[in-house]
Amino acid sequence: MYRAARFWIFILAITTLATPSRAADEPSLARVPTTHTHRRECQCGTARCECGTWLVQQTENFTIYCAGDHADARRLPSVCEALRSRLQENWLSAAAAGWDPKCIVVVHRTAKGYTARLGRGSEGSSGCASLESEGGRVVARRIDLRGDADDWLTAAFPHELTHIVLADRFGGRQPPRWVDEGIAILAEPETKQLQRLRAFEAAEARRQIYSARELMAPAADRDARRRDAFYWQSASLVAHLVEQGTSEQFLTFVDALMRDGTEHALRQVYEIPSLAQLESRWRPQTLPGDRPESSLADHIAQITSARRLRD
Ligand SMILES: [Zn+2]
Repeated sequence: MYRAARFWIFILAITTLATPSRAADEPSLARVPTTHTHRRECQCGTARCECGTWLVQQTENFTIYCAGDHADARRLPSVCEALRSRLQENWLSAAAAGWDPKCIVVVHRTAKGYTARLGRGSEGSSGCASLESEGGRVVARRIDLRGDADDWLTAAFPHELTHIVLADRFGGRQPPRWVDEGIAILAEPETKQLQRLRAFEAAEARRQIYSARELMAPAADRDARRRDAFYWQSASLVAHLVEQGTSEQFLTFVDALMRDGTEHALRQVYEIPSLAQLESRWRPQTLPGDRPESSLADHIAQITSARRLRD
């Protein structure tokens, strides 16, 4: 169902062991509006300029804020555009229009700046996507990243940008959490996926995992004890269904699921008669004994081999 009213979605996604924060504070971006335009902010109107210690770079679809001396600062414009194109090719069947408004990307120099922006509860994450939608259209896009985390560019950024790209496909509606997070994890590098697999195996040993029915239920992600299982099993279930056909078919399934419910969507799109049948087909992939050491990671890596940020 579409929500006509304006709403915000905050997605805190990646938990990462970060390198220690640098001592220096970063300038405040608290006054930067979500629909900020570069010209209004810095008054110079150039495509690239230094506003205080912030390097502000414009591309066709992004406004990027980064400390000017950050090692990855100068390659961010090309990385942002290339990854957006790749994700859209993978998941959107129709050619996507340019983003208006552009997506704001803020690479915070320190954990302090990042948590000051995102508030309590953000300390354990290294990336956050924020969306605002109105009348079935996305009217604001923003990604905040911890530039002092060791995987912010290779793992956190692809994950968060996937959420932003998917929002276009669903007209600003938030898809089910297992879909949103599962697809985003498929954009992560294999090293990160292996970390998630290990965390899942620990949850599995504690018997804190999900059935398909539980995973697909609303608010399934709010069980803190099963958080690791939620992320890995979401990716596993998305990968399993994508493998039955195409990514486009999977998103058609998600449309049907949001409209008609899970069992109806399974019959309609995959000719799977029931959730119990899905459970029996998918479940063995998340149980010990039936899989080699890293087969799920390999499985996801095969599907996503063309979808990763390379560089
Ligand atoms: Zn996420």
